Amino acid sequence: MFIEPSLGKFHSKERKGQLEVICGSMFSGKTEELIRRLNRALIAKQKVEIFKPSIDKRYHEEDVVSHNETAIRSTPVNFAEDILLLAGDCDVVGIDEVQFFDNRIVHVATVLANSGKRVIMAGLDMDFEGKPFEPMPHLMAIAEYVTKVHAICMKCGELAAYSFRLIEQKDKVVLGEKESYEARCRKCFNEGNS
Ligand SMILES: [Zn+2]
Repeated sequence: MFIEPSLGKFHSKERKGQLEVICGSMFSGKTEELIRRLNRALIAKQKVEIFKPSIDKRYHEEDVVSHNETAIRSTPVNFAEDILLLAGDCDVVGIDEVQFFDNRIVHVATVLANSGKRVIMAGLDMDFEGKPFEPMPHLMAIAEYVTKVHAICMKCGELAAYSFRLIEQKDKVVLGEKESYEARCRKCFNEGNS
């Protein structure tokens, strides 16, 4: 369980910003963990803004919705730089599905943190081939805190870190997860469809 280092310091005028990354496979609860942290910041009466790439239109246009339907209103943006324009004077910036942004999100997150904001980003750390999903590796390297959450392997019940694609399609991004993907452990991921 992630414990915030100190929520109180974000009330102070001389607050230091920080970067947090929540990573893992599909069905690992990344968005739930993001929402949990944002809700705690709201309880602490901090100003929270949430963004997600507009590519992700699987659910409601303006909500960060996790699969268990907890929702927080969010703003879809086309480009990473839009977040700089829209973040305003908020204390905490949440960014969901951060793997769908290009590498400019690294600069954007750094600028936000350097200006004193707490930036919490959730995203897939590996693609369906088990390869690092840019820009996540970069964000994980520069973040103060990285939390890897795990799914449960849908084949054997072990902890799962991989997103196994059930359909034949080579594009890196295929939305519509329930039908197209399974969370799998290393062994079951390597066994493939056999
Ligand atoms: Zn397994």
